[in-house]
Order: sequence, then C-alpha cells, then structure tokens
Amino acid sequence: MSAKIIDGKAVSAEVRERVAAEVSEFIEGGGHQPVLATVLVGDDPASHVYVANKHKACEAAGIGSVHHELPAETSQADLVTLVEALGDDDAIDGILVQLPPPEHIDPDAVIAAINPAKDVDGLTATNAGLLAGGRPGLVPCTPAGVIELLDHAGTELEGAEAVIVGRSNLVGRPLISLLLGRNATVTAAHSRTRDLAAVCSRADVLVAAVGVPELLGADHVKPGATVIDVGINRTDDGLKGDVDFEAAVEVAGAITPVPGGVGPMTIAMLMANTLAAARARAI
Ligand code: NDP
Repeated sequence: MSAKIIDGKAVSAEVRERVAAEVSEFIEGGGHQPVLATVLVGDDPASHVYVANKHKACEAAGIGSVHHELPAETSQADLVTLVEALGDDDAIDGILVQLPPPEHIDPDAVIAAINPAKDVDGLTATNAGLLAGGRPGLVPCTPAGVIELLDHAGTELEGAEAVIVGRSNLVGRPLISLLLGRNATVTAAHSRTRDLAAVCSRADVLVAAVGVPELLGADHVKPGATVIDVGINRTDDGLKGDVDFEAAVEVAGAITPVPGGVGPMTIAMLMANTLAAARARAI
C-alpha cells in the first residue's frame, strides 16, 4: 500500500497563517511590529532568491524586514561589525546572515557575532547549548520544521524509535535534541555507521539529512514508518531527496516528497522564530 504523502507546502502555509494571526494579536496587545534583518554578502544568485523569498514571507506575515547587501569583497571584520551593530539595534528582533558567505569569511566567526536573543536561525553556541540542555531558546528552522511536519502527520513520538541519518549542526544534531525532548528513543547515524539499512529499518520515524541523492531505499524503511526527507540534491534528473521516494513510498506509512516536503517549512519556521524573538525581547 502506498504511504500517505505529507504535504509540506500546505503545512507551511498553515504555519505562516498562524504566525500572521499571532503577529496581529501581539501588536493589538501593545507589542511592537517584529522586524527581521537579513544580511547577504556577494552576488550568489541562489542566495539572492532565498533572501527575496524571506522578505516576501515577512510581508505576508505582517513582519517588518530590512536588508543589508554587501559586496563580495567585504572583509570578515566589516561583516562582524555590521552583525554586532544589528545585535545592539533596538529596532531589530531577528538577524539572519545568509550562508554560506564568500570563502574568505569564516561562517563560525560571523555566527558568533550574532546576538543570541536575535539568532532566528538558532545557530549560535548559546542557542545550540540551550537546545542540547533541553532549555527554551531559538531552534534552527529546518529541524523545527521537521517536528512540525511529524506533528501534522499525527506521528506518535513518545517512546518511538527515531533514527536520524546525518549529524550536522544545522539539521541532524538539533533534531537529536528535539526528538529526545519529545521522548523518542533517538539514534544518530552518519557516514561511519555500520550497516545503515539495519539501523534505519528499526525506525518508526526515519529522518534523512545527508546530502546524497536517494541514499535510502526500501531496505532502509520499516513498514508503516514515517519518513522525513530533508535532502535537497540537484542532479541531472532534477531535484532529488536523500530517500528513493518511489521505492520508500511503497513501504512507509507516511513520507515527505522532494520538493514540497521539508523545504517549504524552513521559511515558515523563520517567521515563527522572528515572532518568538520579538515576544521574548518585549518581556
Ligand atoms: P552536511 O553535509 O553538513 O551533513 C551531512 C551528514 O550526512 C553528515 O553527518 C555525514 O556524516 C552524513 N553522511 C554523509 N554521507 C553519508 C552516508 N553515505 N551514510 C550515512 N551518513 C552520511 O549536510 P546538511 O545537514 O547541511 O544537509 C543535509 C541535506 O539536507 C542536504 O541535501 C541539504 O541540501 C539539505 N538541507 C535542506 C534544508 C531545507 O530543506 N530547507 C536545509 C538544510 C539542509 P559525517 O558526520 O560522518 O560526515
């Protein structure tokens, strides 16, 4: 039997509508309009599209936005100075530096300059530490979107066997903490995992965040499992996930497509984080 398809576009639209309603309520209740600042260094066309989409999403949610565009040759010191200034600027609630920066800039140095209270990407050591410690903070957008999709699909997390393939700071590691926080039994698999299929096929919840097109097939999926594919891989055959969708859809109970699964969630969770940061700063 074919799995239920988890529609990320629809869930993303729901989250964005919910955030828009909450922004209105926050302002009606005497709060200020939340404002997101984006910073883009260089002229990478894909990054320009991503940033433009974030501004459109802000507008639709009633969130203000400002944009700083810097030339590719901007020094790391100048970028850090701008990011620190945004951190001190009372008119700004969220700071998003579009990654990756040009090669001469160390992304870790830029992330370290972000005021943790405005770190809407959840990448600073402070927010990563809070999440790892099970304490409230700003959570990275893509993993937060994965949890939103699992909840929407009605997947039971408490006591579930969850396997995450990938342990990056951006996706895999935050998901370990988020799923532990929901009382799942969590296994993190990675490039040195022995017998990946055996590990994955134990999972009630299987999350792929690898960056290898169609690495996981039917052998990796437990019958009836929920499969969340974070992978976005550009191939000669078009955009592919980390899961072989055609094979896995026949075994899984529910599955996200690529595109149209996790992808649209990231921007929705960015809106949610900007509102959360504005609320926390208003207290
Ligand atoms: P990284 O390259 O940072 O991490 C990849 C992880 O996969 C590493 O932990 C690596 O293991 C593991 N890995 C690599 N090869 C294998 C293998 N053969 N078997 C098992 N594990 C393996 O990637 P990201 O986490 O940043 O991204 C993962 C995917 O998600 C990419 O396709 C990316 O495009 C996509 N993505 C999508 C987003 C969205 O939907 N908005 C946002 C962010 C990412 P090790 O640690 O041992 O090296």
